[in-house]
Amino acid sequence: MATDYYELLGVSRTATPEELKKAYRKLAIKYHPDKNPGNKEAEEKFKSISQAYEVLSDPEKRARYDQFGPDAFSGAAGRNPFGGGAGFQDPMDLFSQIFGGDRGGGSIFEEFFGGGRGGGAGGAQAGSDLRYDLEIELEEAVFGADRKITIPKLDTCQHCHGSGAAPGSGKKRCARCGGAGQVTASAGFFSVRQPCPVCHGAGETIDKPCLSCQGTGRVQVTRTLQLHIRPGVDTGSKLRVTGEGEAGQHGGPAGDLYVIIHVRPHQVFTRRGSDLICELPVPFTVAALGGVVLAPTVSGAAKMKIPEGTQSGDRLRLKGKGVPSLQGGQRGDLYIITVVETPRNLNAAQKKLLEELAASMSEKNTPRRAEFEQRAKKFLREE
Ligand SMILES: [Zn+2]
Ligand SMILES: [Zn+2]
Repeated sequence: MATDYYELLGVSRTATPEELKKAYRKLAIKYHPDKNPGNKEAEEKFKSISQAYEVLSDPEKRARYDQFGPDAFSGAAGRNPFGGGAGFQDPMDLFSQIFGGDRGGGSIFEEFFGGGRGGGAGGAQAGSDLRYDLEIELEEAVFGADRKITIPKLDTCQHCHGSGAAPGSGKKRCARCGGAGQVTASAGFFSVRQPCPVCHGAGETIDKPCLSCQGTGRVQVTRTLQLHIRPGVDTGSKLRVTGEGEAGQHGGPAGDLYVIIHVRPHQVFTRRGSDLICELPVPFTVAALGGVVLAPTVSGAAKMKIPEGTQSGDRLRLKGKGVPSLQGGQRGDLYIITVVETPRNLNAAQKKLLEELAASMSEKNTPRRAEFEQRAKKFLREE
């Protein structure tokens, strides 16, 4: 049995359109399904007040209601003197019209959805995040750097300040969605809310589009940014620059810019975490006799002592000459890997000296060779 529409809305039979609207708004907010998830009772109530308001807000329907009561609209075949089905609007559509249609004046719609950022109001859309791949030198990764980068992006149109409307021209409420930016499409039993196909979620349409941005509120620009690269970054490090992504639309926030670091391969040093590695050729005489050589570090040459009898592949450590830690811990080390260089292009005199040397050598001079011969004896016999 249908309840009295006036009672449902809590107004007198002589209520003015304004009083009706006010009563509906109050109740619609209270019983909106978004505020009462899973509450069947609230959903029914929301539907009932929507029907009540739909009828009473239309002077013709209200007059019919006053004469025949709720049966005039109940849709029960045979009882409805006006024929046809219930024919009520989707309560969601009605809600959107009432709230969306009044955005300029009151802020109930925004209050309801919790304010501007990302909310349904006016289809505010956050700008996209952007990615920029930045190649840097190893030295920049070690010492940090300040780099200027230039990025193409969509920024707020300065001509119309993002409104998309030509100066002096206005915007009007979208006729298709009533300003809600969304429409409800029925799919059988269910109804689905979708962005409005006419205003694309803005809730408004523009009389005269801004010529600079063709009404989109955004233009393609090239932005130059100053970036500070912290010592210790590595390939794959991500720098986030808040708000430097693409501009938002319809009052939405801008996206962020993510700078992805790529450290170029270096001609001298190889990086392993916070350590650096350098392969250093050492003349075999120095390797045999020992001596001091110049070893490269990222901050310049360092004198390094080569011990007597140094072999290829020996590792010498220069403490603290590696890469700083991003987390602020200890700086890494530099490892010098020696590569003993066998002399080439010997002249006759040099050859003679070496032959004399060879003749004087014993197992004591080449203990590795001696140890190997022992270990591989079985396999060193001639077939
Ligand atoms: Zn513009
Ligand atoms: Zn629309």
